[in-house]
Amino acid sequence: EKNTPDAMTQMVCGFCGTGCNLNIHLKDGEGVCVTPTTEYPVNLGMACPKGWEALSVLKSPDRAISPLIKKSHNHWEPVDWDTALNLFTRKFKGIQQQYGTDSVAFLSTGQMVTEEMAFLGALAKFGMGMLHGDGNTRQCMASAVTAYKQSFGFDAPPFTYQDLEESDVLVFIGANPCIAHPIMWERVMRNSHEPEIVVVDPRKTETAMQATQHLQIYPKSDLTLFYGIAHILIQRGHLAEEFIQNHTEGFEEFAAHIKDYTIERVTNETGLSRTAIEHFAEIIHSGKRVSFWWTMGVNQSYQGVRTAQSLINLALMTGNIGRTGTGPNSITGQCNAMGSRLFSNTTNLLGGHDFLNAEHRSKVAETLSIPVDRIPTQNSWPYHKIIEGILAGKIKGLWVICTNPAHSWINQRQVRDILDRLDFLVVQDMYHTTETARHANLVLPAAAWGEKEGTFINAERRISRVKRVTRAPGQALSDFSIFKLIAQYWGCADMFSQWKSPEDVFQMMKQLTKGQPCDISGIKDYAAIEEQGGIQWPFPESDTKSLEQQRRLFEDGQFYHQNGRAKMIFSEPTKMPEAPNEQYPFILLTGRGTASQWHTQTRTKNSDVLRKLYPARIYVELNPQDASELSIKPNDWIFVESQRGRIKAQAFITQSVQPGQIFIPMHYEQTNQLTDAVFDPYSSQPSYKCCAVRVLKN
Ligand code: SF4
Repeated sequence: EKNTPDAMTQMVCGFCGTGCNLNIHLKDGEGVCVTPTTEYPVNLGMACPKGWEALSVLKSPDRAISPLIKKSHNHWEPVDWDTALNLFTRKFKGIQQQYGTDSVAFLSTGQMVTEEMAFLGALAKFGMGMLHGDGNTRQCMASAVTAYKQSFGFDAPPFTYQDLEESDVLVFIGANPCIAHPIMWERVMRNSHEPEIVVVDPRKTETAMQATQHLQIYPKSDLTLFYGIAHILIQRGHLAEEFIQNHTEGFEEFAAHIKDYTIERVTNETGLSRTAIEHFAEIIHSGKRVSFWWTMGVNQSYQGVRTAQSLINLALMTGNIGRTGTGPNSITGQCNAMGSRLFSNTTNLLGGHDFLNAEHRSKVAETLSIPVDRIPTQNSWPYHKIIEGILAGKIKGLWVICTNPAHSWINQRQVRDILDRLDFLVVQDMYHTTETARHANLVLPAAAWGEKEGTFINAERRISRVKRVTRAPGQALSDFSIFKLIAQYWGCADMFSQWKSPEDVFQMMKQLTKGQPCDISGIKDYAAIEEQGGIQWPFPESDTKSLEQQRRLFEDGQFYHQNGRAKMIFSEPTKMPEAPNEQYPFILLTGRGTASQWHTQTRTKNSDVLRKLYPARIYVELNPQDASELSIKPNDWIFVESQRGRIKAQAFITQSVQPGQIFIPMHYEQTNQLTDAVFDPYSSQPSYKCCAVRVLKN
């Protein structure tokens, strides 16, 4: 009875990019339990285990409740905010005076509300004079972003979730929505068109097990497969000729380039049969509404951008774009990856603008009433260059906000060593126990989702509300309040005098997007977002569409390049950077292992319920044939070694992986001790999905 709710409010979930809406049941103004919102257009009354447990992860003894200053190895002392922010300012200013303003950098996130991301980006770059800052979206979405920008002229995932229910052919590539985006998968299950579901994945994932066709390719042969499919479609004349002619450029060059991708070659490189390849091409041709959906299997690759573009090319050449049930669709991972992509002031200037464009700089300066010379005229280094910059002694101070690179960054041992070389590391997080916080000189305690106000943008570009439904513990403050305080201590508060509340920032964001593809100037305010069940961008002031209508992009066949055409971009596949060899004969695949844990488990491990749904001990999936050859039995503790590290894990013997391949979930702290720091040349996204390892019996 003590917790019987007496009121209810609603807000978007704070874990994945699906953006489900949750009813938060309140008792005396405090959130006490959660149920999924039935009438919200995203989740239609459903939520995965993480959503149901969204409030319980906030109550944890690991919460950072006061600023902490490192006194000696493994010893931090609590201090008040004044002491902490004086130290923050003194240390970072000191470093900048000695080594230049670009010697301090920041690493941010796809998990904060958009208004906070915008504030952080503006404060760090315009207020504090930093040049380099990147987000953890580099780890998940960068390849899709670059692919869309190059192909369409703007980072614009074209789909709406209705497409999951309306396609008659759905192709999932390196994606396992069954557990990674379970509510999107539920939308697929509601599809009444008896769709063909094709899964392209080296692993027999939960999604692959439910597909009508599983193409279990050799790791990283996806680019070859899609060029081969394009070649078959061209040879057979199965093309949307009119669309190609009127709305694309580069088709002739693309067709000439892929001439050599014969079925024989594709068969050899992918390990698929001729029949399977031809059947796949036929399914794409015969589908009336074909959609391609990808996630990390494509993006986290040394050739992620070109692989994403090979899917974009397939959609363009078959006319599967701009219509219901179609599209080359990258599904975002984090709850606010899309907010980060457009408003974090890292790779783009605020609002999807360009740091290198003088007109864009003037527009942003004018809108925000800041001197234009405060806006950098160069792009930031991407994440891995910032890490390398520390190693090279160019970055001496780092501010890490709401992310955990000491767990999640590739080749983890190296990155931990590098973090220890900094003169000063600040970690701003809701927990003081993250792997990264263990390296920090100063920890700033932050409020979490549910303890602050703002908006998220989900994978289908829908802006939804985040609300304060419970008090942050101890002295923890919202990131917004922390940034405001830092502006005061730094001495640049005047620049941010208009940034009084998250909603004020939202109003500025609206102005910033005017005339951009992501224009949201027509959204009145937070109340309008709530009333409508979230609003998808674009929503310019001139918008005449009803809010119930789906906002699918490119319905008019017009893309964002100056000539209005989409570009077909391609290049030769590159060799796997670390192929299996005599010493390290296995390929390591990594990825999500469950619907019940989130990324590095920082939050989700704090729920008793979620912990029970997933093994606490690290495990490795191994094919029965390999297990038998190595005399490994189920649940044996075994070693997995790469050139970079050795970990111990429990054997899970399963047909899910092919012989010669193993799979370890990314949720465990040890996984990235093995991975190899290799990056896509265009997006700088780390290639987490394949490196050479060996497996040893304990
Ligand atoms: Fe939250 Fe994603 Fe689960 Fe929906 S699917 S409840 S957004 S974690």
